[in-house]
Amino acid sequence: MCKYIFVTGGVCSSLGKGIASASIGALLKSAGLKVFTQKLDPYLNIDPGTMSPFQHGEVFVTDDGGETDLDLGHYERFIDTSLSKLSSVTTGKIYDEVLDKERRGGFLGGTIQIIPHITNTIQEKITKAAEKSECDIMVVEIGGTVGDIEGLPFLEAIRQLRHKLGPENTCFVHLTLLPYLEGSKELKTKPTQASVRELRSIGIQPDFILTRADHPIKKEHIKKIALFCDVNEEYVIPAETVDSIYEVPLRYQKHNITELIAGKLKLGKIKPNLKEWEEVNKKIKSKKNSVKIALVGKYTGLDDAYLSVLESLEIACYHAGKTLELLWISSEKLEEKDKQTWEDLKKADGIIVPGGFGVRGIEGKIMAAKYARENKIPYLGLCLGMQIMTIEFAREALNNNKITSEEFDEEGKTDKENYIIHFLPGQCKDGKKGGTLRLGSYPCKIAKDSKTYSLYKITNIDERHRHRYEFNNEYLNKLEEKGLVFSGINPKRKLIEIVEIKDHPFMIGCQFHPEFKSRPNKPHPLFKGFIEASIK
Ligand code: GLN
Repeated sequence: MCKYIFVTGGVCSSLGKGIASASIGALLKSAGLKVFTQKLDPYLNIDPGTMSPFQHGEVFVTDDGGETDLDLGHYERFIDTSLSKLSSVTTGKIYDEVLDKERRGGFLGGTIQIIPHITNTIQEKITKAAEKSECDIMVVEIGGTVGDIEGLPFLEAIRQLRHKLGPENTCFVHLTLLPYLEGSKELKTKPTQASVRELRSIGIQPDFILTRADHPIKKEHIKKIALFCDVNEEYVIPAETVDSIYEVPLRYQKHNITELIAGKLKLGKIKPNLKEWEEVNKKIKSKKNSVKIALVGKYTGLDDAYLSVLESLEIACYHAGKTLELLWISSEKLEEKDKQTWEDLKKADGIIVPGGFGVRGIEGKIMAAKYARENKIPYLGLCLGMQIMTIEFAREALNNNKITSEEFDEEGKTDKENYIIHFLPGQCKDGKKGGTLRLGSYPCKIAKDSKTYSLYKITNIDERHRHRYEFNNEYLNKLEEKGLVFSGINPKRKLIEIVEIKDHPFMIGCQFHPEFKSRPNKPHPLFKGFIEASIK
């Protein structure tokens, strides 16, 4: 039977509950257990698919096409397990289901209420995900902060699960903050006590308290928290801020968290295997000179909007023994010919154009691709970045500046023949809801004599998609003649998935999002190749 670990957060948001959950999952997996994870988000949106990256960060895509919270990216990177739509639950999704059932008469006229109908549906989501994934351990992160009104049904649901399944099958982990007071030069435990009191007032007694702090945590703090929160000292785990998130599993394990969890959940004798994590950390610590990568996008300076791209670059960099120096380049400023922005772009050892939607800043991105092509600067185009690279190449090769994507021709001013990127109806798996996006994992066949092949070293790959538009195959032969290599194709539908430019050290674009498949111990081949080319 599956055992559950519920991770809640107190005091304030942004403490890194996702990293904490992922780290616990990673340690248990390294001890040989099958781990699955789930994030319960208290907001009313049905999924993060339509939420602004400005507010909510990137949308992480699962193999089965789920559009999910970016924390799922942490889980996949740390635990190296493919997650699914089951891993992402929001209040909106729960209400949507319950209300839909009500409209269809599913409650036979009964009164539907938060307790038990909403809380039961939440419990079903949790236990079904555990069943379907056939995991030994399910780590469930509850979004938001204890004390939020929106989070209450989720907390009530996990309280009931504890009651039903018993303490040997459920474990509560509460992550809090010890704020530092500059004046008295000390860490304070009171907010942690208050947050645990709040949790206890709704019937949840944490088994573990993880305490985040930006300063060293002393024994006396641990003792105080243990006494006032009624948790044994060894179950209060200090979680001081570290340089790299990939250090967190090792930090937790210094306090034997895996064995302690195993004790609570009666898992028997287990021992984590830290070898891979130690190797990753050795690489992180020994990185040397920096490599400058320009990221040309819309949301400059917003790490979360490009989280998986940044993690993929970081990972590829430390595997190459380098430190990533990121240059944020606003594509709109390139368009406006802003001097400083162009100077920054010209400093770059490599240029990356990530995914994006809409017409804003497009010409600036095309300028960046042109600059990369003409100056033989390594370029990696992800999804939109591939479309940009193709448009730029075609405009030049075919001497036609009208060439564009159907997406960018909002006013319908361009003749259809000029759409080198166009909308292909029915290209997605389930013509249903949101069905105009090609979402999730699709196979791709790589041409043997391509640069792409020299990176992947295999011909059949699967990568994840999230886009509406596709390369227009009418252009295939014309561009092939001019030196564009179509190195990756969807075998069934002949959709172009990867393009590269022949006489260039590294200019590759992919219609998918490789950033979702980087792992700390396994840089993605395209990112690895891109960083290695940028170092040369
Ligand atoms: N906007 C483009 C499309 O819909 C690319 C999407 C993306 O980069 N994720 O095809």
